[in-house]
Amino acid sequence: MGLTSESTPTGPAAHAEDALLPRSALQHLLFCERQCALIHVERLWAENRLTVEGRHLHERADSGRSESRPGVRIARALPIRSLRLGLVGRADVVEFHDAGLGGARRVVPVEYKRGRPKSDDSDRVQLCAQALCLEEMLGVAIPAGALYYGQTRHRHDVAFDGTLRALVERSAARLHALVAGGVTPQAVRAPKCDGCSLLSLCLPAPPRPRSARARTVIALAASLALAPEELT
Ligand code: SF4
Repeated sequence: MGLTSESTPTGPAAHAEDALLPRSALQHLLFCERQCALIHVERLWAENRLTVEGRHLHERADSGRSESRPGVRIARALPIRSLRLGLVGRADVVEFHDAGLGGARRVVPVEYKRGRPKSDDSDRVQLCAQALCLEEMLGVAIPAGALYYGQTRHRHDVAFDGTLRALVERSAARLHALVAGGVTPQAVRAPKCDGCSLLSLCLPAPPRPRSARARTVIALAASLALAPEELT
């Protein structure tokens, strides 16, 4: 079934092609709405060790060409988008498994992540968003995918159940509302801030305490109605 600007195989199109937001922004949103707004509203970005390692892992996933093995074709760095969710991006790896006897061809997205499995839903949401994009583009049902973690070198299967799909829908809607609103939420210091690539931009370090000599100069200048630099 072909796509039109008004409809998609999975529902009415809610977003124009030029109003799509990066699928990766869902990860920022679920990590911290302020971080998401700093990146996608204020256009700030900073890399730290974690983001560099993650980028290198994705580059390795993206660098390979598509390949075929018995029973499966593997596509890499596949462009994806959903007009319904308003998301665009690339899929690291998508496996197209041949149909079994009497069965349908299986499409399995595989997302590469640095580190190890997280306690929150951000990785699963990003992966499921990828599946929803592919479902809309290909007109097929995708019941499950997989996450591959660089640190553990382990692949985890993820079922795209109703709860996870609903979370993706809510996250995509919240992302669009946040970006459309154009207001960056206030910073709230939390333990996760220590691993945030935007820490130095978001929460500037407090001014360094002045030395005893500097404090004396400032006090003396004030008593003489002078600027401190006039005494140094
Ligand atoms: S430093 Fe903390 S509050 Fe600021 S963007 Fe990062 S996670 Fe959010």
